[in-house]
Amino acid sequence: AEEERRFVELHPRSATLAEQARGPLLAGVPMPWMTRWPGAFPVFVESASGARLVDVDGVEYVDLCLGDTGAMTGHALPQVAEVIAERARTGITTMLPSADAVWVGEELARRFGLPTWQLAMSATDANRFVLRFARYLTGRPRVAVFDWCYHGTVDETLAVLDGDRVVPRPGALGPQVDVAVTTAVVPFNDLDALERRLAEGDVACLLMEPALTNIGIVLPEEGYLAGVREVTRRHGVLLIVDETHTMCAGPGGCTAAWGLDPDLVVVGKAIAGGVPAAAYGMSAEVAGRLSGPMLGHEIDVAGVGGTLTANALALAAVRATLSTCLREEDFAVAVPLAERFTEGVAGVIAEHGLPWHVQRLGCRAEYWFCPPPRDGAAAAAAVDEELEAFLHLWCLNRGVLLTPFHNMALFSPHHTTADVDRHTQVYAEAVAALLGQ
Ligand code: PLP
Repeated sequence: AEEERRFVELHPRSATLAEQARGPLLAGVPMPWMTRWPGAFPVFVESASGARLVDVDGVEYVDLCLGDTGAMTGHALPQVAEVIAERARTGITTMLPSADAVWVGEELARRFGLPTWQLAMSATDANRFVLRFARYLTGRPRVAVFDWCYHGTVDETLAVLDGDRVVPRPGALGPQVDVAVTTAVVPFNDLDALERRLAEGDVACLLMEPALTNIGIVLPEEGYLAGVREVTRRHGVLLIVDETHTMCAGPGGCTAAWGLDPDLVVVGKAIAGGVPAAAYGMSAEVAGRLSGPMLGHEIDVAGVGGTLTANALALAAVRATLSTCLREEDFAVAVPLAERFTEGVAGVIAEHGLPWHVQRLGCRAEYWFCPPPRDGAAAAAAVDEELEAFLHLWCLNRGVLLTPFHNMALFSPHHTTADVDRHTQVYAEAVAALLGQ
């Protein structure tokens, strides 16, 4: 209650805007996730630059949310802003390719080791398209996902296990599709369960994150991903790696960092410096089987693509982002900052002998209030929303902005060690306050 009071006191202008927004906007926000911030209302943003965000009340934050990965490279970077401004002047949407498309395709192919690419508006969009392709190519009806995965608002993926039954994910607005019919759900880190499920022969593809990131970070156990590749291949199931969040592992995501060999890859969010864009890549085999029907116009009218997709602005932003700020040398700055964050948080946890931990993947880290869970169901059971909200609000009230989902912290090359240490100090104070010290 004290933190709530402090939050309201600090944000009078946001409070007024939030009140006004309740008139024209559903639930007072332009997008449902914006209701997820702890606090009586979301702060309204004035500007964001590099690793800093300033709200309409003039409060400045060290931004560790970075648009929930959408601005992973840092906000408003001049080299990207210039290209965006140039494209705004020279035309954005023409329904024709620009030269940047060739550069982007070649660069993504180089990074992910998959030769052929397509653009999409968002990772959700890209996931929908690759699922459609997988069903088309295999003639099988179901898609497999991990229990407690998140792949955007793709109906078939909003499913979890309830015992042996596949049921809609709690909180998903529905029912939209009957996930018991469209979807197979398997626990992460359990190769036997995957083997048993794929042996039924009705699964077109496994759409997976190589590490779960949406229920906190859950890392794959030694040898698990190699096993997944072997089992999917043996059962003729296409393996789709969704790198939307796991781009935090490096310039080629986990695919490059861990030597994965998927049939298709999806990337989104971070690749265009905050401009809406996503892409999906495919193996030569998949591309060979798709390009014939695409050229024959059998596929282009069948639910893939979009009017604003691959517009010249998006392509220019992807090119500028990949060529100037999502490179090996940028990760070489951002990852050590995330390591320092993890060490700081782990130090506080150890000092108090708490049964908590902090997990990291590349430049992304997340707190946990339990020992490391092995799969999504264990992770979901361990979520402590009250504690998450308290820590989130405590940090926000002291100028450190975490992601509203599981208090994720993401580092760009524009953060500093002082930013990390500021967070560690604030976190330590929060934990001491929680423990009544
Ligand atoms: N895939 C993963 C792994 C995600 O975490 C998300 C969003 O958080 C998406 C896809 C969907 O991205 P978008 O909301 O940009 O469509």
